[in-house]
Amino acid sequence: MDIYKALKMYFGYDEFKAGQEKLIKGIMDGRDALGIMPTGGGKSLCYQLPAIILDGITIVVSPLISLMKDQVDSLNEMGIAGTYINSTLEQDELMTRLRDIRDNKYKIIYAAPERLNTGLFKDLIRDIDISLVAIDEAHCISQWGHDFRPSYLEIPAFIDSLEERPVVAAFTATATKEIIEEIKHLIRLKNPLESIIGFDRPNLLYEVVKVSNKYSYLLDYLKNNFQEESGIIYCATRKTVESLTKKLIKEGISAVEYHGGMGADERQNNQDGFIFNKCRIIVATNAFGMGIDKPDVRFVIHYNMPKNMEAYYQEAGRAGRDGEKSHCILLYSPSDVVKQKLIIQNEVFSHEREEILYKNLQYLVDYCHTNECLRNYILTYFGEDTENTNCNNCGNCLDQSEMMDVTVESQKILSCIYRTNERYGLTTIIQVLKGSKSKKILEFNLDKVSTYGIMTDYSDMAIREIAMTLVSKGYIHITPDKYPILKLTSKSREVLKGKVKVYHKRYLIERKDSTNAKEDQRKRDGSYNYDNDLFNKLKELRYSISKEKKVAPFMIFHDSTLKGIASYYPKNKDELLTISGVGLKKYESYGESFLGLINDYCTEKGLNVDEIRKEGLVQSETDRSETGKARGDNAVDRYEATYSYYIEGLSLTEIAEKRGFTISTIIEHLKKCDENGKLIDWSIFIDDPLKEEKILNAIKKVGIERLKPIKEELPEEISYEDIKLVIAKNRLG
Ligand code: ADP
Repeated sequence: MDIYKALKMYFGYDEFKAGQEKLIKGIMDGRDALGIMPTGGGKSLCYQLPAIILDGITIVVSPLISLMKDQVDSLNEMGIAGTYINSTLEQDELMTRLRDIRDNKYKIIYAAPERLNTGLFKDLIRDIDISLVAIDEAHCISQWGHDFRPSYLEIPAFIDSLEERPVVAAFTATATKEIIEEIKHLIRLKNPLESIIGFDRPNLLYEVVKVSNKYSYLLDYLKNNFQEESGIIYCATRKTVESLTKKLIKEGISAVEYHGGMGADERQNNQDGFIFNKCRIIVATNAFGMGIDKPDVRFVIHYNMPKNMEAYYQEAGRAGRDGEKSHCILLYSPSDVVKQKLIIQNEVFSHEREEILYKNLQYLVDYCHTNECLRNYILTYFGEDTENTNCNNCGNCLDQSEMMDVTVESQKILSCIYRTNERYGLTTIIQVLKGSKSKKILEFNLDKVSTYGIMTDYSDMAIREIAMTLVSKGYIHITPDKYPILKLTSKSREVLKGKVKVYHKRYLIERKDSTNAKEDQRKRDGSYNYDNDLFNKLKELRYSISKEKKVAPFMIFHDSTLKGIASYYPKNKDELLTISGVGLKKYESYGESFLGLINDYCTEKGLNVDEIRKEGLVQSETDRSETGKARGDNAVDRYEATYSYYIEGLSLTEIAEKRGFTISTIIEHLKKCDENGKLIDWSIFIDDPLKEEKILNAIKKVGIERLKPIKEELPEEISYEDIKLVIAKNRLG
């Protein structure tokens, strides 16, 4: 079987994701491979697909025992024979599996690294033919990475012990150059085919929120965003996890807690509740997440700031693995920075290590204070070149609130650092600028310096904001110490001399919370035009199957697949198989149930799918694939393009011609623009007021639910388009 056929048949996908094809072809040609892809990039498929086609068995080395069962369940759902060997198995079960492996019943075996060099495993591999060893989370072999697992170092010995060296493929999402080199060296990859995919996760919206009351922000967010969907809230301590969960439950929000202090059973129970969509939110410490592969997490909120950018990116990256739009929000508060510093101080480290930890923390603090693109800030940290200055999908790029020139304020802060001989931290500098009479200020004669009391009109918070912006731009250096001191840099002079200007968001300086200013800007969803009612019904069906079969809902179909169905109303097997994520095995298991539901839904709502498709109310197949390619996946862009022709004064027929859509679709686009606040004068499209009156009367009589009965009430010459225009003009549907 060729790789493209296998991709469709088992996984239900029509195209490879970036990097997959190259790696898979390399592996199939017998070359070692090294795949470096971001979370959600689709690493698993790179070894699972060759495993199906290659003659022998594939061993997957994976660090997370808790994940193995899910991975194997997912494989079995797709009709791929897989199993795992780890310490959770009872002796009997283990023996049965080993026998079945020897009988060639499996193509893929997951194993923890600790297992590889045990007598039992060594006996096993003598009897079987291994084509491929795939090493997942390969960075665990590096002592420099934050997930070092000593047992990973045993992998090379295991490979050496095999009679014939199989193809070896390693995968990781870790980007740093040192770690990549170490992986290659320690695993002893032979001239590997490398594929490094950019670390950007375009579907994730990054945002830093600075509010005085984090809890009320959180509550507001949860009530207004992704109401029915899953999210993770990370907190720094068990205590915060417990109290926050209680408060949320009291508010009627479905939440469970997860932290290292809970019993193993309770933890597992809560984790399962989250994975199986029985509860919406998991409130957790960073103990949660390593073993989680849930693709449909729509938001990750950090209630407290983590210790560095790497930890943040990894935790935030658990959002939107399925590629759907998702949010990563970090709630900033200065006290969290202090707490992180205390943690560093309280652990015994060498001075060198302590310095690194402070520096890493500072980068994340700078991230919270930059006014520039947050995505670029992250990517720069991981050593990637960034081309676009505006990603249009982060809190800063979407935030069009007014910028304020704070050059003079910046000069005051810089001179104060200079006048006090670069010997103090930010708190003292703020006290001097504000003319504080505290003991320390008077004791050190800081009330005598010329910058004493020159910023009395500003809040501490505002001065802090500006100072931190100066840090993030490199105009101030913070020493990486227990008590950090502010120093000038070679660039400070540019600001002091007025050669460069400094800007800051006005609302942060004027002490208004950032949320109101940003809330309007938040963009979400819109990548598909799908029928939300149908989508919800499909989700219900998926949920009931998931309970019955005891597999997680996402293993049946991903949200993106259900949205694909709800935008196309497939009527039969062939049509259902055109939806991305529906493979043959999945069709065999669930196709009939889902087709039955779609059929019932259409009958109940009086929807004639052929008619709707002809009318262009749903995206046709070509439309769908065009949307994904030439026109960009973004529905918002499509509406914009239509709107620009409308502004030029073109008629509906002309716009339809230019855009290659039906008139009905053009009306739908304009309706979306109208809903999004753009001005549309519908009356220019409605030539006859009498027609409008007739249509309105018909609607009064038969309701707005379905178009067909309205049409039947009206004279022949009144078209579906006329009806839609009147509905749009009067904002009825
Ligand atoms: P990673 O291990 O790199 O974080 P996964 O292997 O879990 O990523 O894949 C992430 C998601 O992408 C999964 O939901 C998977 O089903 C999906 N996926 C993988 N390959 C493709 C593809 N070619 N087309 C569409 N979706 C894909």
